[in-house]
Amino acid sequence: MAEIIDGKAFAAGLRERVAKQVEALRSQHDIVPGLAVVLVGENPASEVYVRNKGKQTRAAGMESFEHKLDASSSEQELLDLVQKLNEDPAVNGILVQLPLPDQIDAEKVLAAIDPDKDVDGFHTVNVGRLWTGLPGLVPCTPLGCKMLLKDQLRDLSGKHAVIVGRSNIVGKPMAALLLRENCTVEIAHSRTQDLAAEVKRADIVVAAVGKREMIQGDWLKPGATVIDVGINRIEKEDGKTKLVGDVDFASAEPVAGAITPVPGGVGPMTIACLLNNTVEATCLQNGVEVPQV
Ligand code: NAP
Repeated sequence: MAEIIDGKAFAAGLRERVAKQVEALRSQHDIVPGLAVVLVGENPASEVYVRNKGKQTRAAGMESFEHKLDASSSEQELLDLVQKLNEDPAVNGILVQLPLPDQIDAEKVLAAIDPDKDVDGFHTVNVGRLWTGLPGLVPCTPLGCKMLLKDQLRDLSGKHAVIVGRSNIVGKPMAALLLRENCTVEIAHSRTQDLAAEVKRADIVVAAVGKREMIQGDWLKPGATVIDVGINRIEKEDGKTKLVGDVDFASAEPVAGAITPVPGGVGPMTIACLLNNTVEATCLQNGVEVPQV
């Protein structure tokens, strides 16, 4: 049976490390990192994320600034707010919660964020930095996946990694991160022929598809490490709902060497990495080293 990769515990450890770094920045440099989160409209899922981000930011000892705009807000209003946050020295990280209402062009808004405050790592400047090996801010979910993989396998060098999914927020940055770790990287997507055969070659499988339990245990190479990014809400027989991943956990567990569960695997890593990125951004902006704790 596969070892279960406990993302919840790892994320708790990372949040503790971040809190110690925040304390060191305060005591050694008199700096308090600040994270601004902008929410437009009343998407219930986004409201939950934003609340959790605020709570965890404050728990790590950082300043949390929450900005809520009406669903009817114009693109210009949001761009003006982003500009204000770019210029505010108390704000070291800016996150605009997606999705945005239809009247607002998300690309335009993301492009307006100062790349050095772009703690989501979505700005094209940070995408370029990632692919060219320059220091920069890296998207939180793939960063969390890489941390879990390094913790599990230590050296990723020479491993064959198959990433299923090529989105800008997960698949593509994941590929860049694993390439940096000297993996042989393959990106599969909806036009890939014989996906099962591609997955069979993988020492590392990262599933970021958004299709419930699509990747089957008999597709896996025995002993493979499986990172399941998928979050799919399904209805159970009793009418209640539960979360499942993009990997069929029941058939994958007996074949894989290690696997992340859903929930409790990749999910908790995302906010922890956001806090980690806020500390990195703060250090970059103030010309200080990230404290070693
Ligand atoms: P996305 O933007 O919808 O991208 C899905 C990718 O999967 C696309 O590249 C698509 O290929 C590919 N795909 C779709 N059907 C496929 C098939 N049958 N065979 C092979 N590839 C297929 O999704 P995303 O934003 O990357 O998110 C992926 C999953 O991760 C979702 O379940 C999401 O909820 C979850 N997620 C979790 C976290 C977290 O844990 N914090 C964060 C982000 C996302 P094409 O490009 O060819 O269309």
